[in-house]
Amino acid sequence: MSSVTRGPRKLYVKSYGCQMNVYDSQRMADVLAREGYVETSTPDDADVLVLNTCHIREKAAEKVYSELGRLRVLKQDAARDGRRLTVAVAGCVAQAEGEEIIRRAPVVDLVVGPQSYHRLPDLVARAAETGRVVDTEFPAEDKFDHLAAPSAAATRSRGAAAFVTVQEGCDKFCSFCVVPYTRGAEFSRPVAKILAEVEGLVAAGVKEIRLIGQNVNAWHGDGPDGRAWSLARLLHRLAEVPGVARLRYTTSHPRDMDDALIAAHRDLPALMPQLHLPVQSGSDRVLDAMNRRHDRAEYLRVIERLKTARPDIALSSDFIVGFPGETEAEFRDTLALVDEVGFASAYSFKYSPRPGTPAADSDDQVSEAEKADRLARLQARIDHHAAAFNAATVGRTAAVLFENPGRHDGQMTGKSPWMQAVQVMAPPSVKGEIHTVRITGTGTNSLYGALVSPLRHDVHGGRDAPDAAMRVASGGH
Ligand code: SF4
Repeated sequence: MSSVTRGPRKLYVKSYGCQMNVYDSQRMADVLAREGYVETSTPDDADVLVLNTCHIREKAAEKVYSELGRLRVLKQDAARDGRRLTVAVAGCVAQAEGEEIIRRAPVVDLVVGPQSYHRLPDLVARAAETGRVVDTEFPAEDKFDHLAAPSAAATRSRGAAAFVTVQEGCDKFCSFCVVPYTRGAEFSRPVAKILAEVEGLVAAGVKEIRLIGQNVNAWHGDGPDGRAWSLARLLHRLAEVPGVARLRYTTSHPRDMDDALIAAHRDLPALMPQLHLPVQSGSDRVLDAMNRRHDRAEYLRVIERLKTARPDIALSSDFIVGFPGETEAEFRDTLALVDEVGFASAYSFKYSPRPGTPAADSDDQVSEAEKADRLARLQARIDHHAAAFNAATVGRTAAVLFENPGRHDGQMTGKSPWMQAVQVMAPPSVKGEIHTVRITGTGTNSLYGALVSPLRHDVHGGRDAPDAAMRVASGGH
């Protein structure tokens, strides 16, 4: 068969959406690597092609169907070359649509939900034979126990910052969100498993660990003492692992920002001064309709306490505009909240109904034109504060973890403690290292900086932050 004459079988994974999907795509590659698959950077020579889909964006399922339409030609080309291309759809669209995908897109051989990735080798083998396999069950077993740990070589190729999933699923049931339906109930991995994964990553050269989960600060995994630990306690433990220079966690819910977690931002130098804390709206009525389980005042209290604990913290958030029934006055409450917090960055979206969620059935939908207008006004406010936050770093020094070559020859790019991309003229040898950089200017999407000479390694960094300047410039109080 062609796979024998062509050498190792090749896998191409295309990942959409959030960091959870990026992590899952890597684990899928790792589990199939055990069976001899190697990753290819192009779909053209793949034996197995996985679309790891996301259900958050507007018309997500329709976009997947049009991508699958294009894959028909690729599959025919492969067949002409004597190759069988197995097409799999994974991720949240797979979970939500199930069998329907194979019915509407016969090019698909396998539909696999996020809880079944550890079974991929078997599922792919069956799909290659039958071309009709659907696995979107929520099995009781811990899939993480069965997923392959990445090899040291795979880890090295993925860079100096690595994701570690510590939590999956969500019990919050915000009325606009599909996650509780596609990813199921909250599940927390135990401390020992997380620790082992982190130690393996650090041994392979990773410096920054990004803990991820749909509701990461609701994490409450079993500790070695037999008790459920909090995320704060986990962060303290991970900070003790030799070689862990930086820690971050995302995505958090305001209700789960407990005292110990806020204090960790003050006490742990390795915990970077940056937090993504979605609020979605500044209006109490809309927050209630969204079933967010917190009001505006509670959110602002959490923000105030975070700023007290870590004055230079860079805050980011998610916003939805045009939620059903949102009035102009309620939208202005959101604008006012943006001004009050002074976010360093934020993601904002027009509300779009997700089938199966309570808000989708509301007959009080806001017009497209109104949503577009509000989105433009909100993004202008967010951009204003982001620019002010970035400008306040100019002239300061920051510890930058270098990750990749920059846009221009001789440049390297890395991340500041506040998660800004920083472009620096530097030798390629700085890749994977943390160096002190003087910030010299701001661009559209990144900062510019110069290495402090001589090269100075900085373990954590961020403490010589422009605290007061940042708070004033970013509209903080
Ligand atoms: S907390 Fe986040 S993941 Fe959970 S339902 Fe709400 S928006 Fe979705």
